[in-house]
Amino acid sequence: MTEQLEPMPDDWQRALAIVAHPDDLEYGCGAAVAVWTDAGREVTYLMVTRGEAGIDTLSPAEAGPVREREELASAAVVGVTAVEFLDHTDGVIEYGTALRRDLAAAIRRHRPELVITLNFDDTWGGAHWNTPDHRAVGRATMDAVGDAGNRWIFPNAGPGPWNGVRWVAVAGSNAPTHAVDVTDGLERGVRSLMEHRAYIEALQPGADPEVYARELIEGFAREEAKRFNGRPAVSFRLYPR
Ligand SMILES: [Zn+2]
Repeated sequence: MTEQLEPMPDDWQRALAIVAHPDDLEYGCGAAVAVWTDAGREVTYLMVTRGEAGIDTLSPAEAGPVREREELASAAVVGVTAVEFLDHTDGVIEYGTALRRDLAAAIRRHRPELVITLNFDDTWGGAHWNTPDHRAVGRATMDAVGDAGNRWIFPNAGPGPWNGVRWVAVAGSNAPTHAVDVTDGLERGVRSLMEHRAYIEALQPGADPEVYARELIEGFAREEAKRFNGRPAVSFRLYPR
């Protein structure tokens, strides 16, 4: 019998999701966000880049605005109207104090109880190597949560310390601990990924974005159901603070 995941905590009001690229949250996490916003919770998205290096056939100057538009549309599908972009350079985000400072400032501005980020392990499990941007942003997010609470670290970043983050939830983890039942958010999770139409068409030439998005998102949710009492789910590795 597979070990079962615990339900994600739901006694919170504000979440901040911090990821490297437009599409990082839509590849799996969007259905959970839909469930949360349905329940009246506020979720803000923070993109460290505009994903401008993500489309081989478009120059970064052309791709950035396209990907920004697609991200805003994706977010709207799952009830998120606040999307911010930090404008680090896609593909070469550096882990370091500059990034930690930007993320700490955002955490102090938004005062979330829950911070969400993406898998920052070396791999996606097995032999699928992760990207340097995901590794840098995930690790910097974990560290910036602590930075945000310490008034002596980055004292001029943001409106003053925020020590109210209670959990960091890592989506796409190779070793998840918790999950959200996404029965009511799954369809919006699919449509949210479909909004990345230009990106999907470049990534999967000839593929129908709807078929692609549906197979992927429903497939993930079905897979997670095996360790969540048969309920379609999105999983997270939860780090309480
Ligand atoms: Zn990414």
